[in-house]
This record gives sequence, structure tokens and C-alpha cells, in this order.
Amino acid sequence: MLRNLPIEELQSVGPKRAEVLRAEAGISTIEDLIYYAPRRYLDRSSFVKISDCADGQQITVAGTVSSVHTEGRGRKILCVEINDGTEDLTGVFFGGIQYFQRVFDRGDTVVFSGTIASFRGRKQIVHPEFDFYDDDQTELLNTGRIIPLYHSNDKLQHAGFSSRGFRKIIFQTIKDHLDKVEDPLPTELRNRLSLVGYAAALKAIHFPENLAQVEEARIRLAFNELFFLQYYLHLSRRLIRETETRPSRIPDMTFLMDLFNNLPFTLTEDQKQAVNRISQDIAQPFEMNRLLQGDVGSGKTAVAMAAACIEKGLGHQTAIMAPTEVLAAQHFSTFQKFMPQGLTCGLLVSGMKAAQKKKILTEIASGSIDITIGTHALIQDGVAFKDLGLVIVDEQHRFGVEQRAELRRKGEKTDLLVMTATPIPRSLALTAYGDLDVTVIKKKPADRLPIKTLLLPESRMKGVNASLDKYMAEGRQCYYILPLIEESEKSDLVSAKEIFEELSAEVFTHRRIGLLHGKMKPAEKEAVMNSFKEGNIDLLVSTTVIEVGIDVPNATVIVIRHPERFGLSQLHQLRGRVGRGPYQSFCILLYPDSISKEAAERLGVIEKSEDGFAIAEQDLRIRGAGDFLGTRQHGVESQFEFADLSRDLDLLLEARSEAEQIIMNIKDIKAEHQRFEQRYVKSEELNGSRITKSLSLIS
Ligand code: ADP
Ligand code: MG
Repeated sequence: MLRNLPIEELQSVGPKRAEVLRAEAGISTIEDLIYYAPRRYLDRSSFVKISDCADGQQITVAGTVSSVHTEGRGRKILCVEINDGTEDLTGVFFGGIQYFQRVFDRGDTVVFSGTIASFRGRKQIVHPEFDFYDDDQTELLNTGRIIPLYHSNDKLQHAGFSSRGFRKIIFQTIKDHLDKVEDPLPTELRNRLSLVGYAAALKAIHFPENLAQVEEARIRLAFNELFFLQYYLHLSRRLIRETETRPSRIPDMTFLMDLFNNLPFTLTEDQKQAVNRISQDIAQPFEMNRLLQGDVGSGKTAVAMAAACIEKGLGHQTAIMAPTEVLAAQHFSTFQKFMPQGLTCGLLVSGMKAAQKKKILTEIASGSIDITIGTHALIQDGVAFKDLGLVIVDEQHRFGVEQRAELRRKGEKTDLLVMTATPIPRSLALTAYGDLDVTVIKKKPADRLPIKTLLLPESRMKGVNASLDKYMAEGRQCYYILPLIEESEKSDLVSAKEIFEELSAEVFTHRRIGLLHGKMKPAEKEAVMNSFKEGNIDLLVSTTVIEVGIDVPNATVIVIRHPERFGLSQLHQLRGRVGRGPYQSFCILLYPDSISKEAAERLGVIEKSEDGFAIAEQDLRIRGAGDFLGTRQHGVESQFEFADLSRDLDLLLEARSEAEQIIMNIKDIKAEHQRFEQRYVKSEELNGSRITKSLSLIS
């Protein structure tokens, strides 16, 4: 198989060049090279004449280099003049001058593309995309067609892998090896879905005849990625379901009933349904893997409490992991307040005194604590449970996959419930979280009024402050959020400290103002948070440390400064700090005059919608899947090479249902699972683009 053929097998690649390819482009096999997708295409079927170009146009021109020279005193620029028989045009380079001086020679035939602009009467393109006409393969590679442009860098270029170099070697490789590629999809399926053949797609992604062919090829390759990922996910799921790993159990539901009696509200329908699903999961003869998705304020904590009570009904312990100490402490006090008699709770965070910690650890080990609530301190070595049956991970996106697995390993056959308030768009739920069963809490408790969101310029600050004061006079509390703690030299953002000082000394001298930020010690943070919860602080100036999960129903106004600095989902999370009680709540996005039109548009999404899912979809569309997960989701950023989760949802659903169909008809699921894992993936590296490279799967 091509995947096992090292790149050195190619005649033109010796050990040195191979090393550069490996280090700089992640290419170590012939297969990798075939998968090295162009980053974009140059449509050379539509050249223009230089004399026909006007300023501001995006153009591609071809000409002969007439002069390569530097200009300017002090900082020099490099000018590469070309002429196409109609007029001159200059390619201007500000950086990498020495390098470009080497690249261009008089007499070369080059292609420039970029945006044209005139400077002192000369037509020029600053840092044009450029390419050369090849002598040997002119016909096939460089004229009158769509040209692939590959990512390259200095080191690659030195080794001969400029975009042009890649073109040459990939062209040759495809010619020599593509016939060894088997189509991994059954013909029937391919025909039914009108997918292009596999080899044809791989060829077209590099050397398409037109741009429509590129998209066709991309869809085929994207389908592969999505299909095989879904195939593997379903395979694993069926395997889990058919392998009994523990006896069926029937939990004693008394604790759950007692909890319901203790709660000051009845569960919403969605909450009830979630609890039902979880109790079924816990009873079944294999481990629960459930994701509970619910918008901010939808009441996931009550469901978590119920789950812990059910688990206690089997005599097992529960561990709940929260991303911050503030949040862990909040859960701890909520649990303590409502948990039925006979159920004990403990708190475990890193900021604890040694003696206190030791006591807790002993109690966890002896089993005298039923529910341990904590931060990542829970996964440390010294923590041992007597009989851990359920792991709950709150605000799951703050943790890595590995962290939740680690906590789970502290028990045997441990059930897992992960909860998230960051609505995960459907496409991501089916891929990045595809190994989980999903339950969604759609409706918030009925007593809520919608939050009013106002998008206001900073020039309206005085009025905003006046209305904050009015609400505080009525006994309500407010949040005041800033992106930074301290001023940094580079930025002109106002910081939390600065605003705290200003508001306390000048604006709200008669109110109690608090400050909360990430550089404070855990104990300090907790003291401030508790003080706010107890109503001893009227206005809390804070950075986004309060973003996650904090629940203070009496807080009704949140002001967010520099909202343009936050992601949409993050803003939605922040807004969710208010609107948690019976009062009308407000979210005020106070933006500086200088924000861009795009930023204003983005903020408009928040202003108009209070639907976390719709916002997340928008966010995904605007930022792309990599970014959406990027900073917050470890390990799954670059799942796909060709699929784009922000626009391939339909394709994903199709791939999923096809994979399901096939898996349904497999008789020996265990054997197929083994075969798949041996040949294609290790379960830890569940990754669409890795799997999809598998060149022959179902025959
Ligand atoms: P989140 O889903 O964001 O974690 P919480 O669990 O913190 O939300 O719940 C938000 C608030 O709603 C809490 O104050 C909680 O007591 C309250 N709450 C939860 N469920 C209900 C319900 N069924 N009826 C009324 N209030 C509820
Ligand atoms: Mg919560």
C-alpha cells in the first residue's frame, strides 16, 4: 500500500530532501504526498493583458522579466519588471529581497497574480503570487489551465519544493502511482451518490480541468473523511453495545425521590427526560457515555445532582469535575443544600490546606464521601476512590479528552456524563463528540424573561451608568466585564483594574464594588464570588473568569466592554450570567467607536438572538471549525483535510446514514472493529483525515 511506501522510493527524493519534506510538510510517504492538497488554484485559463488592467483589479498576467533591481535608500525594495508585449508591470518585494533576487532572472517567463495598483505612473503588484513557466512540461502543467499552488516555505524551497517543485513531483507521482489506488467505497454507493471515483478525485484535486472539477473532487474526498470517521464511530458504538462489560443493575431510586422533594422547583420536561435517559444508561450492562448539552441557565446542575443520586442508589461514588475553583465551590454549596440525607459531599481543589486535603482524601478512599466535587485536582495521583461509579465533567469544553479519561480510570466500568453550555453545532457534535450519546435541554425553566440585549457606543456610557445605578438602587446586582486585567502597553483597551478604580472612586462612590480576575489567588477569588452571591457586592468588575457557570439569580445587568474582543459563543456565555431569576435582565454591549464593520455585524448576531445554538452555528461559520474548537478544544482541531464542518453538514449527514446502514448489516462486529483498528487507526487517534487516507476499506 502507498501509505507504507516511504517518500524516498521516489527517484528524485534522496535522504536530505526526504527529511525536509518530513519536517516541513509532514510528508513521509508517497500517500502523504498525494494528499498534499493545494492551498489554492491559479486560474491561468484567464490571463489578461497588462495594458487592459486597471487599479484595484485582481489579475493574472504573464510576461518576460526585463529587469531585476533594488530601489530606495536605507530600506531597499526589490523591483522585478516584466513586459507582456503590451506594457510593463513591476512586482515589488519589501521583504526577503536577497531570496527573491536569486529567484528571478532576466529573461525568465513568469506569471504574476495579485491586486494591481499604480505608483508614480507605474503599474505594480506588491508581493505578487508568482510562478514560472516550465520548459519541460509547459503543456501539461503551466499553461491554459488551472494551476495548483502549494504551501511552501524557505526550507522547502531550498530543497526544491517551491509551489512549482511540488507541482512537478506530484504530477510525476500521480502518473506513476495513482493506478495503485483502490477506491475504498463500494461502487454501488458511489454511483448512487454520484461521487467521483477516488483516483479521479485525487488527480483532479491537483490538476483539475476546471474549477467545478475541484469542488467535485473536494466533495468526494470530504465524503471519505466524514464517512470513515462515522463508520469507525458507529462500529465502536455497536461494539460497546454488544459487549456486556458489567451486569445490568437496578438502582434504588429513593435518593432521587428525596432530591426531587428537596429542590425548590419541579424539573422541566427536558430535564426530566435527561434524567430518564441517564437512569436507563446507568442501569444498562455497559458504560454510559453521554453528553448533556444545554444552553446557559437551562438547569444542567439539577440533572447532575439527579445522576449522582441514581448512582448512589447503586452504592457507588460520583466525582464531578469543574474547570475553576469558583465553579467547583458553587457546585459544592448547591449540592450540599439540596442533597438528601444519607448522601455526603466533599470538595477537592488544589488551593486547600494540606491537613484539610488529607482528610478529604481519606474520606474519598474510605467511601464515606459519596460525591466529590473538584477541579482537575481530582485527577492527581493521590486521589483514590473506594468505588467510583460515575464521572461528571461540567463545562466539558474546558477539558481535554485525556483529562476526562484520566478521571474515569479512577473507577472501573465508570459511567461518564459530560455537560456543556457551549452549544455545539450539529456537525461538530457528530464528529468531535461523535463517540457520545447526546441529550439536549432545549427549553429553559419557564419563569424566565428573555434577556434584553443592547448594543451601544461608548459615548452612551453616562446613561448606561445611570441605569446601572437605578437597578442597584432597586436591590439588583450587576456585572461589568472587561477583556483584560491590567493595561498592557500595546493596546488601548481599558482594563478591569482601571475600571474598578474609576467606578469605585468616581462613578458609584455610594455602591459596593468588587473586583475579580484570574491573577487573584483562589481563596481571594472565592471570597469575592461568595460576597457577590450573598449580595454584599452591588457591582462586580471582572474579566472572563466569571464566564463559566456562575449562578447569581439576583444579578440582572451585565455590561460588556470591548465586546468586539470576544467570540460570539463567549459573549453568549457571558450574557447567560444574567436572566437566571424572575427579574427582567439586560446585557449591554458597550463598544468603542473604532470597531470595524465586520465586528459590528458579529455583535448584531448577539443582539438579535438569544438562541445559543443559532449563535454557535454563526460563530462556526464566521470562524471555521478549527478556530471554533481551536483554543478551547484540545486535540481535535485539524480533523479534516477536505471536509469543512461549517458548510458540509448535509454531506456529513449523508455519510453518517450510509455508514450506519453498512454497520447494521455486519455480522461479526468484533472482527470488523479489530480489522479496522489494525489497519487504519488506533482508537486514541480518532481523526478523520488519518482514517480517510486508508486507501482500501470495504471491498
Ligand atoms: P446551567 O445549565 O447553566 O448550569 P444551572 O444549573 O446553573 O444552569 O441553573 C440555572 C438556574 O436555574 C439555577 O439558579 C437553578 O436553581 C435554576 N433552575 C434549574 N432548574 C430549574 C427549574 N426546573 N425550574 C426553575 N428553576 C430552575
Ligand atoms: Mg452550569
